[in-house]
Amino acid sequence: MTSITICGIRGRMGRTLVRLAGEHADLRIVGGIDRADEDAGAGIVVATVDDPAAALEDADVIIDFSTAAATHALLEHGMDRLAGSAVVIGTTGLDAATHDLIDRLSERAAVLTAANFSVGVNLLEALCERVSAALDSAAWDVEIVEAHHARKVDAPSGTALALAEAVARGRTQTLADVRRDGRTGETGARPTGEIGMHAIRGGDIVGDHSVLFIGARERIELRHSAQDRALFADGALTAARWLAGRAPGRYTMRDVLDI
Ligand code: NAD
Repeated sequence: MTSITICGIRGRMGRTLVRLAGEHADLRIVGGIDRADEDAGAGIVVATVDDPAAALEDADVIIDFSTAAATHALLEHGMDRLAGSAVVIGTTGLDAATHDLIDRLSERAAVLTAANFSVGVNLLEALCERVSAALDSAAWDVEIVEAHHARKVDAPSGTALALAEAVARGRTQTLADVRRDGRTGETGARPTGEIGMHAIRGGDIVGDHSVLFIGARERIELRHSAQDRALFADGALTAARWLAGRAPGRYTMRDVLDI
C-alpha cells in the first residue's frame, strides 16, 4: 500500500488524482495541502503550505500539482518533513530558486520532476533529441508550437520547454543561447540555430505540442495531442508507485518508463 499526500488537492489535477487513486486498491490518499485547511472529508487531513506537517505525517509519497509559489513554499516550510519520503512534482513554471530547493531536497529524498507525465510526450522528448542530433542545425530550423486551455497561467508550457531542451541537447546547444519566444515587430532574419517557441491559449484544449524541423525543401513535424487530463494524473500515480522507497536523488519520467 502506498500512502499519498496531494499538494493542490482542490485543483483540477488534485481532484483527478483523488478520483483515480480511488480506483487502485494499492493507493491511499492520506493528506492534502491547499489554500485553506478545512477537512476534505473521507479522513483526508488538509494543511497549508506554510504549515504542512500534519498532512505529511503518514505519507510515503507527496504529489504536487499546485502553483509555482505554492511549490516553493511547500519545499521551504516542509523541507525537514519531506526528507526520507518520495516527492513527485508536476507543477510547472518553477523558478531557479525553487529548482535550488529541489536540488537540496534530493540529497535527502527521492524527487521526481516532470513537465509532463504522459508516456507519449516522454517518448516525443526522446525522439526530438534523436532527430535533432541527426540533422544539421545550420540546414534545419526548429520551431515549437504548443496549445493549452485559457486558464493556464504560464507560457511557454513546461512541456514545450522540456522539448526545446531535448532539441538543444541533441544539437549540443545551450537552450538559453538559442531560445526565441513568439516573434513580433522588426525581428530581422531568423538566425541559424534558433529554437522558436509559440504559445496558443484558448477554450478547453488539454495540451497539444508540435515540434517542426524545417528544411529547405522538406519538413518533419512531430506532434502530440493530450485528449484527457486524467492521463497526467495516471502517469503521476505510476511515478508515485515507482518512486516510493527509492534512494534519495533526482529522477525523471524517463527513469520510470525506462526510455
Ligand atoms: P488548478 O488551478 O486547478 O489547481 C491548483 C491548486 O493549487 C488549487 O486547488 C489552488 O487552490 C492550489 N493553490 C494555489 N495556491 C496555493 C497556495 N499558496 N497554497 C496551497 N495551495 C495553493 O491547476 P491544475 O490544472 O490542477 O494545475 C496545477 C499545476 O500542475 C500547474 O502548474 C499546471 O501547469 C501543472 N500541470 C502539470 C501537468 C504535468 O503533466 N506535469 C499536467 C497538468 C497540469
